[in-house]
Amino acid sequence: MNKKYDVIVIGGGASGLMSAGVAGESGQRVLLLEKMEKLGRKIRITGKGRCNLTNNKIKEEFLNKIRSGATFFERAYDTFSNFKTMEFFEQQGLPLVEERGGRVYPESGDAWDVVRTLEKWCSKNRVEIRKDVLVERVEKKDGAVSGVIANGEFIESPKVIIATGGFSYPSTGSTGDGCRFAYNLGHNIVPVRPSLVPFELKIFGISELKGLLLKNIALSLLVDNVLKETLQGEVEFYEFGMGGATTLRLSSEAVDAIDEGKKAKFILDLKPALSVAKLQGRIKRELDALKTITVAELLRKLMPKQMIQIILKQSGFQARKMVSTLSEEDILKIISTIKNVEMPIIDHRGFKEAIITAGGVSLKEINPKTMESTIVKGLFFAGEVMDLDADTGGFNLQIAFSTAYLAGKK
Ligand SMILES: Cc1cc2nc3c(=O)[nH]c(=O)nc-3n(C[C@H](O)[C@H](O)[C@H](O)COP(=O)(O)OP(=O)(O)OC[C@H]3O[C@@H](n4cnc5c(N)ncnc54)[C@H](O)[C@@H]3O)c2cc1C
Repeated sequence: MNKKYDVIVIGGGASGLMSAGVAGESGQRVLLLEKMEKLGRKIRITGKGRCNLTNNKIKEEFLNKIRSGATFFERAYDTFSNFKTMEFFEQQGLPLVEERGGRVYPESGDAWDVVRTLEKWCSKNRVEIRKDVLVERVEKKDGAVSGVIANGEFIESPKVIIATGGFSYPSTGSTGDGCRFAYNLGHNIVPVRPSLVPFELKIFGISELKGLLLKNIALSLLVDNVLKETLQGEVEFYEFGMGGATTLRLSSEAVDAIDEGKKAKFILDLKPALSVAKLQGRIKRELDALKTITVAELLRKLMPKQMIQIILKQSGFQARKMVSTLSEEDILKIISTIKNVEMPIIDHRGFKEAIITAGGVSLKEINPKTMESTIVKGLFFAGEVMDLDADTGGFNLQIAFSTAYLAGKK
């Protein structure tokens, strides 16, 4: 290995590969250091192995999906947008497809193809890639970066890009090293929290729901009994609680509430498309047709069987009670429970299961036009290591690509 480079990139994930390739394209001598034995370990598991690499929403809608740091991110977006990202991958020989909600995937359906494409592009731009190399420290001299210590050796460079990701899914190599480097160099770190994460719920019979996927539901988040947001979509159950797309979209506010010691709960509407009156009509029709139906049998006609015990428990009716013996008020109580299943949150899960990390290197100390630190000359940031995060749908990888493009530019 040489001991002197124009640019050193720490991390071979989405942002590291993109920034190294961009830097290499301008003819600079670039070294990319990755501590794992393979590049892009996290990319490989994105989008359930298919890699939802960006989203084709127009600018305004795109920026609306950025939960933290949208104003800061706008400059990076303008320079290397989602549309440029799609053009880039297609030009590198990776055909893409667009799916529901504007999500963009490689046509092959294989996330590894995204890693291979980026790696090939880096090689074409003569980036020197070293795997199994752990960067231990970033060195500075007279207020400017001077290089890094990696595997115990000093490697010199006037420009270092920290592209080490956040703390989530540490098994992929993202263990928060970049935040430590930045902190040691004088940067402020906005407290990190798991985001886009499942929740442990306090519901009778929750473990029975394991594996259940509910589509076309509405989920509301209440903090200290105040309604924060209601979203429609799908939820998925685990032995301990609930995740799935809609839960994840509500997760950042719920995580903050829990961490602040507030009471948070979800309210699940199993039939958002049906008003109370319509549900009353539906139940009446079932009753007219089947006269001798029990409450459990009625519920089975309205929802997956795993949900029945929860509705019975929360509405206070016996499974075997005949619907014909119920009063109008009783029916309304059952309907109300179906539309308002109470799901108090015990806790959020940790970084091991979080899609992204909220918090990170404070954006106040990074120039949004270049991604350079305003504290240490020659120190740059790209991707999730910064206090930038977004909803699911391809927005987080786009954050990595756009910020990396700016950081890598000469
Ligand atoms: C299960 C899952 C699914 C996801 N699905 C999607 C999706 O479909 N679409 C989407 O937009 N986003 C998705 N995300 C989020 C997205 O993957 C991340 O936001 C993105 O990968 C961040 O890229 P990054 O380059 O900043 O960091 P990372 O991808 O975390 O890469 C950082 C790299 O730096 C290396 N590194 C760390 N420290 C050191 C060190 N000291 N020395 C050397 N190397 C180091 C790591 O090994 C790692 O390879 C998903 C995340 C997860 C966990």
